[in-house]
Amino acid sequence: MGIRIPGRHNSNCRCTDERVEMAIDGALSRKEQERFLQEVKLCAYCSDKYEREKSFKQFLSSKVSRKALSPSFISSLKEKIGKQPGHHGRFMS
Ligand SMILES: [Zn+2]
Repeated sequence: MGIRIPGRHNSNCRCTDERVEMAIDGALSRKEQERFLQEVKLCAYCSDKYEREKSFKQFLSSKVSRKALSPSFISSLKEKIGKQPGHHGRFMS
């Protein structure tokens, strides 16, 4: 799920959308990551995209942890909620 940002890369920018996403996903090696972070500062488009994607991903992971994605965790969570009616929703008001 990429975020589309209007604008253009600097003419000498070597970053791609794919590379930005890889950097956020931690798919780059440490050396590549360091180089990317240097390059991304030089391009308004890429630094903007990087920051937005990063905060979006942090937002997602704060809402849904990797652990929460496993079916067994979800069912145990439902069980907990089911055992405590009234507890759920107290924070809604
Ligand atoms: Zn760029």
